[in-house]
Amino acid sequence: MPYPGRGHINPLLNLAGHLSTRGLFVTVVLTEEWLGLLSTSPTPSHPAVQFRSIPNVIPSEHGRANDFNGFLDAINTKLEKPFERLLESLDPPPAAILADTCLSWMAAVGERRRLPVYSLWTMPAAFFSLFYGFEDIFGGESTAALEEIDKKLEQHVKGLNLGDVSSVICSATLKKWVLESFIWARGAKGVIFTSVYELESDIIDSLKSKLSCPVYTVGPCIPYLTLKISLASDYMQWLDSQPINSVLYLSLGSFLSVSVAQMDEIVTGLHESGIRFLVVGRGATSRVQAKLGSTDLVVQWCDQLKVLCHPSIGGFFTHCGWNSTMECVFAGKPMLTFPLFGDQPLNCKLIANVWKVGLNVKEEIEDGNLVGGKAIAKVAKRLMDVEGIEYKEMREKVVELSETVHRAVEEGGSSYCAINAFVEDVSSSV
Ligand code: UDP
Repeated sequence: MPYPGRGHINPLLNLAGHLSTRGLFVTVVLTEEWLGLLSTSPTPSHPAVQFRSIPNVIPSEHGRANDFNGFLDAINTKLEKPFERLLESLDPPPAAILADTCLSWMAAVGERRRLPVYSLWTMPAAFFSLFYGFEDIFGGESTAALEEIDKKLEQHVKGLNLGDVSSVICSATLKKWVLESFIWARGAKGVIFTSVYELESDIIDSLKSKLSCPVYTVGPCIPYLTLKISLASDYMQWLDSQPINSVLYLSLGSFLSVSVAQMDEIVTGLHESGIRFLVVGRGATSRVQAKLGSTDLVVQWCDQLKVLCHPSIGGFFTHCGWNSTMECVFAGKPMLTFPLFGDQPLNCKLIANVWKVGLNVKEEIEDGNLVGGKAIAKVAKRLMDVEGIEYKEMREKVVELSETVHRAVEEGGSSYCAINAFVEDVSSSV
């Protein structure tokens, strides 16, 4: 069962597909709302994956945006009983539970049902490590000196500082939720990361020595086995008609967004830059459409991985969600980073400071909390100067990472072997 958000559901669905091709029978449990939305997700069509739903006991996706704390509270208190009832009715009866780390009540269900529970973490291992070592890094109730904290954060990811994690640790509800998630993860039968071992090897090795259970690093959790199947759609046809590397793709993920004023600045900046754009507008599609030129395309939603892999795409303006980051690395395209929340500032530091495959838009001049259109135009032009040295260097590095990631998922690669090891572990507990 995933945490009910697209950035968590997508990798779990893809992992389910990979597990089923290795011989496991997988039941994916979602709330009714999400089951209805699956047509817009990469759904595994393997006969060994079945879908089951529980009633919409939590606020809808829309409700989540309006009252995030209420949404978290409902996840913590309202899902457990219906999930357990469903578990009792499953045929064949389950051998193990694979659950999002963010579902902190899952350990209790496993204990009552005498089932091993595996914890699935859909963000970078470095972010897991921060919260796994929370007391150590943040000194419990923040007794450690700020400088000391920054030093420890810097050891996790180059350039990471307290400001980058403040959206989580300064919210009492979020902090409590994340820490509760880690309490159960400590007792899990195994921890699964949707990262790639070679991208975070130091952090993952260090976690392996701290965790008392096996760690499986299985990412990127994308439908790489079916990627070559083409998808007929207007935006793919539009991309086919654009010059190679000429289009900057913009998406701020599936859930968060920026203020209307910030979106206007972004769109004005993009327009001013003269670069061609493919923009995912979601709820603001017509507003964005009205402000962009005839050389740009705005869609409500797209098949992001296929878009990123298209040869016309030269770069990605991203909010740095972990799935978007992994998908872009897989596709081998440089990024413009615009992190908003949670793990995204950390992912931004990985992209811009560690892997050096992107430019951080937010480092440009800010007017209050607003990044101005002029600064955005400037940095967008800098990224998309595809004949310039800076682009070529970033592109070379991201292509290297992409090759590493492709090797990881191929037969004998680190993620391929980790999925096999996980399947063996689950099978041996039957
Ligand atoms: N996505 C998509 N089409 C879009 C925008 C996003 O398929 O038009 C997918 C994207 O490929 C990724 C997910 O939605 O798998 C977003 O997850 P991410 O972790 O990047 O961000 P979140 O939405 O959780 O903030």
